[in-house]
Amino acid sequence: MSLTRQILLGLGLGLVAAALLSGPLAPWQDAALSITGVTGSLFLNALKMVAVPLIATTLIAGLGKLEQAPGRLGALTAGYYGMSTLLAVSMGLILSNVIAPGLRAGLDPEDVQSLMAQASLSPTFANGSSDWQSTLLGLVPGNIFNALSAGNLIAVVLFSLVLGLALRTLPTEFRQSQQVLWDSLQHLLMTVTQWVLRTAPLGVFALVTTSAAQVGWAAAEPLAWFVITVLLALVLHAGLSLGLVLWRLARVSPLQHARDMSPALWMAFSTASSAATLPVTLRCLNDRAKVPSSVTGLTVPLGTTMNMDGTALYECVAVLFLAQLLGADLTIVQQLLVLFLALATSTGMAGIPAASLVAIALILDRVGLPAEALGLLLITDRPLDMCRTAVNVWSDSVAARLVAYYAKTDSPAMAQTVTQAPTNVESSQ
Ligand code: ASP
Repeated sequence: MSLTRQILLGLGLGLVAAALLSGPLAPWQDAALSITGVTGSLFLNALKMVAVPLIATTLIAGLGKLEQAPGRLGALTAGYYGMSTLLAVSMGLILSNVIAPGLRAGLDPEDVQSLMAQASLSPTFANGSSDWQSTLLGLVPGNIFNALSAGNLIAVVLFSLVLGLALRTLPTEFRQSQQVLWDSLQHLLMTVTQWVLRTAPLGVFALVTTSAAQVGWAAAEPLAWFVITVLLALVLHAGLSLGLVLWRLARVSPLQHARDMSPALWMAFSTASSAATLPVTLRCLNDRAKVPSSVTGLTVPLGTTMNMDGTALYECVAVLFLAQLLGADLTIVQQLLVLFLALATSTGMAGIPAASLVAIALILDRVGLPAEALGLLLITDRPLDMCRTAVNVWSDSVAARLVAYYAKTDSPAMAQTVTQAPTNVESSQ
């Protein structure tokens, strides 16, 4: 059975199990959810365990293998990431103004208060802000092993970039042996990924059962317009804006690309973590879409840590929705501030479930709204997180296609340097 089918099977069975546990099997709900909770976390941990070292080895090996000067491809990648996130937040801003979900919810201030209480805000979300000095200092940690163990991905990415660039300057004999070392480490980690993915149906089943059983569908009704706005904006951004980029600029059929990326997209959807999905994203791009690993080596680790279209879009819609709900009329300047902050905070956000909430607390604070309002979003956060994570991964994959297209047209020799992804990874067709 293909990986996509296995994931879909786990997803479908998870939804059925969640429905049963909320209905006829309710007496067993607590016991069952504690088992699925641990099983899901084990699966997620196993993926994340591979993801951090994989980011480092992929970047270093990828940079070493690049035919062209990495500066040009790096600039193209960074340019795409900036533009695509800007398109995403603009889509969020426009639809939030056109649909005005907060005004349609039809809630009076008392309802809002009781919903906020129901959502039982965790205090950690309200205190999520951090200053620019510590953010900057986090980029260059005094101890790289601390950064690795703390999962500080931005620092790991920067350090790996430096190592990869240094590798390119070594004398040939050292460069070759370094290249063999990092390539083989990457193969090793992809083999482990392959093993972890054998448990995908069970892992996805456990994750989906746990999260679906915990979503408070009844309380979510007043948020229906918010959910519709987010979903519509995500679909338009992923399908239309990025679809056009694929079709016109990368010369790839968006449908074909979606087929190639389907295991990664479903995995992102099930885990709500783009970092945990990274091994599958790499595998789909290398094995199915045939994007050279020298290109994915640069674009995917960078994208996983810095390019979060779905997240930025969600932050924007969420803040405007809460402002409308609380009766705060944000001026155009304040809305642009929201747009800018969504752009800035999404870059460097951890690719883990619910990471957006911290950034939303920070933005609410900056535009003078109570961070506690965030509690409302907890009701529908998980399903929307699943969707925005899939868009985050989709956008990274579009970058890889685009850069691969330009790398090939720029230097035909690149076509020959296509180094296939680890050969011990079976095709997932
Ligand atoms: N869950 C998202 C991701 O991993 C981040 C977020 O928007 O919360 O990409």
